[in-house]
Amino acid sequence: MTFTLAIVGRPNVGKSTLFNRLVGKKLALVDDQPGVTRDLREGAGRLGDLRFIVIDSAGLEMAEDDSLQGRMRRLTERAVDEADICLFVVDARLGITAADEYFAEILRRRAKHVIVAANKSEGRAGEAGAMEAYALGLGEPLRISAEHGEGMDDLYRVLMPLA
Ligand code: GDP
Ligand code: MG
Repeated sequence: MTFTLAIVGRPNVGKSTLFNRLVGKKLALVDDQPGVTRDLREGAGRLGDLRFIVIDSAGLEMAEDDSLQGRMRRLTERAVDEADICLFVVDARLGITAADEYFAEILRRRAKHVIVAANKSEGRAGEAGAMEAYALGLGEPLRISAEHGEGMDDLYRVLMPLA
């Protein structure tokens, strides 16, 4: 039995960096510019002995006839609906934003299972942001660093019983 893990969250929190780490290839484009991921990307994820399908959800791409929020919502909802587990990534350095709260509300209503990951938690810079992430009411946030590979053991421990 395998499962599908969707990585969701607002732009620039490190979703694609985490996707690349789980897939082990530079499949998703990582960039400092928000909105670089243009659509949903799927890959074969692995973490320890776990094998799963991982979806890197889109950031935002503005269309003239489209609101930013509408596009974010539709893309997120598609990833959420396809997934058994949603990994909701927030930026521990920046703290929780209104957009994070917006996503949290969608996930609360729609996701089968949510794991909150406070990314960019390497060093001490992310401590306050990780604490703030508790207030999203989606469970205890994992402190991870997608870029430095920290917290992957905790992610494994949370995913393993759900596999
Ligand atoms: P996405 O828009 O959510 O897919 O975010 P990206 O994966 O494209 O990353 C956005 C920016 O955050 C890039 O500059 C990354 O290098 C940076 N980033 C990603 N993960 C980490 C991390 O764990 N720590 C730090 N400090 N920066 C990170
Ligand atoms: Mg991305």
